[in-house]
Amino acid sequence: MSSAQYIIQAKRFCQEPEYLVCLPEDPLDDTAVWVVTSQKSHADFLCPFCGHPMHIYESYQTRLKTIPVQPHGHRSVLFKGRRFRCPCCHETVTESNPYRCPGTRITKRAALWIKSLLAHGLTIHSVQEITGIHWDTIRRVHETVMDESLKTYAVMLEQNHYKPRFLAVDEFAIHKGHTYATTVMDLESGFVIWVGKGRSLADFQKFFEEISPELLSDVKAVAMDMNASYNTLVSRYLPQAKIVYDRYHMQAQYGRDVLGVVRLEEARKHKAAADELKCKQTAAPIRKQPRHSVKRKCRNGSSTAS
Ligand SMILES: [Zn+2]
Repeated sequence: MSSAQYIIQAKRFCQEPEYLVCLPEDPLDDTAVWVVTSQKSHADFLCPFCGHPMHIYESYQTRLKTIPVQPHGHRSVLFKGRRFRCPCCHETVTESNPYRCPGTRITKRAALWIKSLLAHGLTIHSVQEITGIHWDTIRRVHETVMDESLKTYAVMLEQNHYKPRFLAVDEFAIHKGHTYATTVMDLESGFVIWVGKGRSLADFQKFFEEISPELLSDVKAVAMDMNASYNTLVSRYLPQAKIVYDRYHMQAQYGRDVLGVVRLEEARKHKAAADELKCKQTAAPIRKQPRHSVKRKCRNGSSTAS
């Protein structure tokens, strides 16, 4: 990092006059801690419960991970804040840390860095390798990204008066043999509309309880697995929609119930014919003995030579 960049970064930290920022002398030294001390006094706080002026009760410190300068470096920011107490109602208030990404021990800048890496399609594990930040923290940031995207997407759909026409419902395994989930997607846009835990009828019923009937008023057809009992609920809640058993599940079931049975039957026939042939060869007179004969046993127990 050049000294000009360092000054710019430092100014960003110092842009709020209520905080005193002490930067390390060497801008390339990731081991040195940036110390941010709150300059707020009791005059800045009024009790949120009774409106009375508060006084400083105690101090606290929070260490946050932030973006390092060197590759694989670890840089941290130490925030020194205060707790205030109301002399009237005796309630305490902790000063919020303006640099902290909510729910984590990293700065907002580090969270933005993680978001930019995730936006390039990197996995959580890859981001962990690059940033040195804990996997669980990156997962939390990822969750906030997904929540924000879903909210934006919901607003966009509402503005465009979105109403799906062709739906598909299916189950998928979260932990194979243990936990399953049911998902509903729009076949035209390819977007997942709803995901719920479990695969029973009661679990699928939540879809109709959580999604407004107005949104589903234009549904013309619902594709599903012919083995599942989703059709019962679709017929009840969407009487105007046609039920379509999708090709994938029909092919899968045809392969299992028809082709599988025929294949086994044919295999049994061939095996029986082979056994019969071996027995005939055993019963036939041996005219010529090969020089190095090897004894082998027939399936019916009699020994023969080859
Ligand atoms: Zn109070």
